[in-house]
Amino acid sequence: MPKPAHVVIRHKAVECIGCCACAEVIPHIFEMDGDGMAVLIGGIKNGVYLAAEVPDMDLLDIQKAVDDCPVNIIRVDRS
Ligand code: SF4
Repeated sequence: MPKPAHVVIRHKAVECIGCCACAEVIPHIFEMDGDGMAVLIGGIKNGVYLAAEVPDMDLLDIQKAVDDCPVNIIRVDRS
């Protein structure tokens, strides 16, 4: 059985301005914390980013979140 395709999302959380755009588009991947900042669910620290691997079936929505982030701190790459 081939492994399901995944992508890696990276989020530079320290530069988040809390606009909520990502959490509105992909709420199963980003949630807002008690301080009103986005949190990458299941994110593991990777340098200045938090990173999480997610199935690529939501890639269009993930790309929309990347494009909509006003401070360009979300990246998506093939795993
Ligand atoms: S879209 Fe960008 S700035 Fe807005 S909450 Fe998400 S990570 Fe933060």
